[in-house]
Amino acid sequence: MPLMTSWVPGANSPDTDFPLNNLPYGVFSTDEMDERCGVAIGDMIFDCARAEEEGLIALSDSPLFDVPFWNEVMEAGPEVWAALRARLVELLGDEANRDAVAPLLVPMAEAVLHMPMLVSEYTDFYAGRHHATNVGTMFRGAENALPPNWLHIPIGYNGRASSVVVSGTDVRRPWGQLKSPDHDLPAFLPCRRFDLELEMGAIVGTASEGPVTVTEANEMIFGYVLLNDWSARDIQAWEYQPLGPFQAKATATTISPWIVTRAALEPFKCDTPEREFELLDHLKDAGPMLYDIDLRVTLAPEGKPATEIAHTNYREMYYSSAQQLAHHTTSGCPMTPGDLLGSGTISGAEKHERGSLLELSWGGKEPLTLDSGETRTFLEDGDTLTLTGAALGDGYRIGFGPCTGKVLPALEDPYAR
Ligand code: MN
Repeated sequence: MPLMTSWVPGANSPDTDFPLNNLPYGVFSTDEMDERCGVAIGDMIFDCARAEEEGLIALSDSPLFDVPFWNEVMEAGPEVWAALRARLVELLGDEANRDAVAPLLVPMAEAVLHMPMLVSEYTDFYAGRHHATNVGTMFRGAENALPPNWLHIPIGYNGRASSVVVSGTDVRRPWGQLKSPDHDLPAFLPCRRFDLELEMGAIVGTASEGPVTVTEANEMIFGYVLLNDWSARDIQAWEYQPLGPFQAKATATTISPWIVTRAALEPFKCDTPEREFELLDHLKDAGPMLYDIDLRVTLAPEGKPATEIAHTNYREMYYSSAQQLAHHTTSGCPMTPGDLLGSGTISGAEKHERGSLLELSWGGKEPLTLDSGETRTFLEDGDTLTLTGAALGDGYRIGFGPCTGKVLPALEDPYAR
């Protein structure tokens, strides 16, 4: 699909994350305006709340943009999603609408971005084969790297919606109970092995009551964001057996501010990899449901330039988000608009394609050297991590906007009060 041209400044640039082909959904405010829903286009944000007030968008009997989150649009369902996208293409693509629409554009440079939706629940999966193999090799040895269930179901755990934050939010190093290998007993200390996980987040747009098929699950997905699943590896290593991660993953999960829709990503869909075991019927592949999305991670020490530490692609996943969502419903578990599903860490086969410091430094044994000359095994206080991602078209990119966060030092003692 070629670039769709727009009259909005910056929208036809090959460097922008937000050409007319994209039209991602976010929430913004300015010094003069309260938080409201908007659409990124070039260097600008189109004010959906005002567009609805002025009758430029009229998609349902009750207002969709009277609240500063996208959940009401999600609940309105796929027909409204398609109608909204078609209307936005008209308004922002057709020069004839310029006089009516231009006053509703806000320069992105003047805006503060907020959480794009209310996160109802958050589930994190473990569906990247290279990541699971790397971590399993480190923890259990190469012979037992993949657990016996791994090639048959997308395994995951229920995370915390309450600590999902938008890009730009600082993240404080947690304290927790950890046990170093050379001690017999655990101690309560600040995390020493604080890490990132490069993931994609799928946002559920419509509710389910009973089990759904993979095809139905795909139709339920409203869009995707970048996701950093901050991970305290030393807390995780001590607590995870047998129920999986708990406090190691509860400090924060950062998402990028713009929800990129399935419609925008449609030209970039691709197949899941060859199956070693045939999947059972309820998880069988039902057409291409992964996406070719170029993903990068940079790390910038306090006051220093950023170094790219990882470069991989979403198509490396073994299970699609649609398969993860279908699996999530097999028990009858109801899914609701605003549910967030983390893909699992996305790593490729090569060393520079690994989506966590745990893998990049091989459990801390092989420090990385940054452009500043400093080395890293895990995150230091003051480090800023930035995830970026884009589907690369011919002369344009479908980008997500940065997913960034800075590590603040641990509190002196969280129980000293
Ligand atoms: Mn994760």
